[in-house]
Amino acid sequence: MLGKMLISNVRVIDPASAFDSVTNLLITDGKITAIGSGFEADKDTTVIDGTNLMAAPGFIDMHVHLREPGQTEKEDIASGCMAAAAGGITSLVCMPNTKPTTDSPEAVNFIKEKAAAACGVKVYPAAAITKNLAGEVQSDFCALKAAGVIAVSDDGNPVADDRILRKAMIQADKQGLKMLCHCENKVLSSGGLINEGKISEVLGIPGMPAEAEDSDTARVIEMAESTGCAVHICHVSTRGSVKLIREAKKRGVKVTAETAPHYFAFTESKLLKEDADFRMNPPLRTYKDRFAVIEGLCDGTIDAIATDHAPHTPEEKADFLSAPNGVIGMETSFAASFMYLKEFMTLSDIIACMTVKPANILGLDAGRLQVGAPADIVLFNPRDVWTVKPEELHGKSRNAVFKGQKLIGRVYYTICDGNIIFERKKSR
Ligand SMILES: [Zn+2]
Repeated sequence: MLGKMLISNVRVIDPASAFDSVTNLLITDGKITAIGSGFEADKDTTVIDGTNLMAAPGFIDMHVHLREPGQTEKEDIASGCMAAAAGGITSLVCMPNTKPTTDSPEAVNFIKEKAAAACGVKVYPAAAITKNLAGEVQSDFCALKAAGVIAVSDDGNPVADDRILRKAMIQADKQGLKMLCHCENKVLSSGGLINEGKISEVLGIPGMPAEAEDSDTARVIEMAESTGCAVHICHVSTRGSVKLIREAKKRGVKVTAETAPHYFAFTESKLLKEDADFRMNPPLRTYKDRFAVIEGLCDGTIDAIATDHAPHTPEEKADFLSAPNGVIGMETSFAASFMYLKEFMTLSDIIACMTVKPANILGLDAGRLQVGAPADIVLFNPRDVWTVKPEELHGKSRNAVFKGQKLIGRVYYTICDGNIIFERKKSR
């Protein structure tokens, strides 16, 4: 945006520089140009009174399903971007399991064009590792890179063939494309609907064992270690995977990882009500897994908090057994993270998992609230207690696991490149 904006009397938190102070932020032509005092607003300056608010770098969600093209009854790029903005997210990575698959420059350009016409959230398409996510023929990484792709993933359909995965890993690394790995041994998880364990036994439902995730995490880490390539492990949900990643990092393997709020907020006991909104892949696991994930976030084994925002229609989610996997989460990710992690981590460390850490993994010029940085900023009230009402959310779907729950911390403004892309009309 051209012009000036002043955010006054706001508590600025920038984990990247360990800055935490009540001050003023000046934005000029879409960039942060001053932090401190002594600058005046002129008549053309947009002024936001930041009293009682905190300012952090705009959140980065590195795992989102926007559903367009192909499944716009669930979500589309415009509605998904609106949901992101309402959750304080200014950058997101969208997964390639669209219809058709995002596996060509044309498909990437389609998403970029739609995103450019949406509310202003920066959308980074992840392209498929293999054509049609079939695990057979590798996509043209060179052409995808030229089209602006920063990451590749066969999310949901891990590349089972080691030879294809290895070649793709080496080429992705060479091209500077981050490989995002959904780790699941499909032979072990086949037919499973929820975590395999006590709850699946009680309900008499086939389960997915934790080993299905762990064994594939081990395979991917081993391959990253032997090739020397960088990999990123998606939505970590098990104690075993946390342990594998921790040990790999200690050995110097170039591995990073993310988890999602539902994995540190809930356990498989949520499934007892047989509500399909609580079914996702990987599934909610046990207490031991939940606390291992929290421990992983605390000690830096898990770098980022993403959402795996996966919209499905109420009709699809109506039947517990036949419903597709997935939950939405962009509008609740910060509040849920704050609510469930605040007794374990500082606010700054929680914010780091949603800003500078994913920015570093993806190589984005984002995630910093510093002079010279793009003015991607979220303003939130950390004391605001609110109840999640799915019907009030901005995306198209309603499959929210935090529905009906009270969360702490609410986004009031989302600013991207100096433009206000979301503003909550409510007194604070
Ligand atoms: Zn996945």
